[in-house]
Amino acid sequence: MLIYGKEVSANTRAALAEDVKGFVGKYGRKPCLAVIIVGEDPASQTYVRNKIKGCAEVGMASLSYEYGADTPQSEIAAKLKELAADPCVDGILVQLPLPAGFDEKYLLSLIPDAKDVDGFSPTNMGLLAMNAPRTISCTPFGVMKLLASTGQPLAGKRAVVIGRSNTVGKPMAMLLLNADCTVTVCHSKTENLAAIAREADILVAAIGKPKFVTADMVKEGATVIDVGINRVDGKLVGDVDFENVKDKAAYITPVPGGVGPMTITMLLCNTLQAAENAEESAKA
Ligand code: NAP
Repeated sequence: MLIYGKEVSANTRAALAEDVKGFVGKYGRKPCLAVIIVGEDPASQTYVRNKIKGCAEVGMASLSYEYGADTPQSEIAAKLKELAADPCVDGILVQLPLPAGFDEKYLLSLIPDAKDVDGFSPTNMGLLAMNAPRTISCTPFGVMKLLASTGQPLAGKRAVVIGRSNTVGKPMAMLLLNADCTVTVCHSKTENLAAIAREADILVAAIGKPKFVTADMVKEGATVIDVGINRVDGKLVGDVDFENVKDKAAYITPVPGGVGPMTITMLLCNTLQAAENAEESAKA
């Protein structure tokens, strides 16, 4: 069965729009997301446009700041500090990757934990690792929603995550562990990867290599989540060889239309959560 991310995303956004209305009614202001983009990477520009569009769709405010790749880092740092101090801004994100020459770690460190709606900060990652999450990295958070949409229990299941990036693989593994799965994380140095993948009841591919996961790596009846977004001859292709794996898997996400639509939706959810937290801590 296909897991339709588009549909889950649309339903989540409809519910979110209602929650945003409630927030505006209660606090007399809209939750606000500020986005910073540096350079002219077309994919990044599309992501930022969609984030801004997403905010408007659910009734949130947004601010966007575009900088050329030759902008001094100090100028971007000054804007981040200004946004960090602005009580009207609930969430801040810097679109990654940054062009060469920028210190990504330093710039991200200027985003306060409470406004880190990407969930990338060491504190937010640490809280997730301790099973006390505050803001969860958007793509793995979206994957958890997709898994929930299948209605299949997760506790006790064998989960294998291929990929260990700080933004996808690691938080994905922590979320599955927090959901009582038995989790194995594979990466480029893993030996016998195919055999490990074949043990998975839930197989998550976050590698960045088109059609890397082939049918012989998948257990009959597994749930297969394809996070990969690769462009091959102008077409979007996942990390899973969908055509051959789909007949073996019980549930599978397509690319496009699977995990992709969930990421921005979870960013919007995180922004509302940050706004609610800000109002609560202002009251305290
Ligand atoms: P990344 O930072 O490049 O990490 C890729 C991971 O895959 C690394 O941990 C790497 O291992 C592992 N890997 C690479 N080659 C491998 C191999 N031959 N065998 C086993 N593992 C291998 O990528 P990412 O940011 O996590 O993204 C992964 C994919 O998801 C990309 O296609 C990206 O475009 C996509 N993505 C999609 C969304 C969405 O919204 N759907 C969001 C984010 C990312 P090492 O650590 O050993 O190098």
